[in-house]
Amino acid sequence: MPKLNHLLYLQRCVELAEFARNSGNCPFAAVLAGPDGTILLERENSEITDGKCTGHAETMLMEAASQMYPKEFLWECTLYTTAEPCAMCAGAIYWGNVGRVVFGITEKRLAQLTGQGPVQPAFDLPCSEVFARGKKPIKLIGPFPEVEEATVSVLNGFWKTSQGEYRQIRRISSVG
Ligand SMILES: [Zn+2]
Repeated sequence: MPKLNHLLYLQRCVELAEFARNSGNCPFAAVLAGPDGTILLERENSEITDGKCTGHAETMLMEAASQMYPKEFLWECTLYTTAEPCAMCAGAIYWGNVGRVVFGITEKRLAQLTGQGPVQPAFDLPCSEVFARGKKPIKLIGPFPEVEEATVSVLNGFWKTSQGEYRQIRRISSVG
């Protein structure tokens, strides 16, 4: 695996997460870096504006990546993400065959910000546990205290705003 400056890519994720929030989505983003460090893909969360339950940044990035690149190449790539991937995204990364994942904050830290009510009923399941049950040695690196403050400031309060809460409650009630 190439030696990349993880902080630069994580900072880019934070920037994109801010765009996502400003566009009316959950404040998450992911970036795919190639073996030489080139940014190949960037995705913001699009759950709310697309009305898409699978619109997490990492899953959307993996969908695009698998259509563009062979698995052997993706194994040499690094996926950067604002927060430790959820079980769904970890699955997409696993099946897409990306060899290294770098995240800014842990899912435990994220849960402190989202709360654990019906609005954001996140899995209590670290990405490392999902990968540990697989058959590939995907490298997982994080958290990075250097980007915690910036990441938290983009996420903070989102689930208390009308944007975060009302829209998600509306979606829950419209299907339930
Ligand atoms: Zn996810």
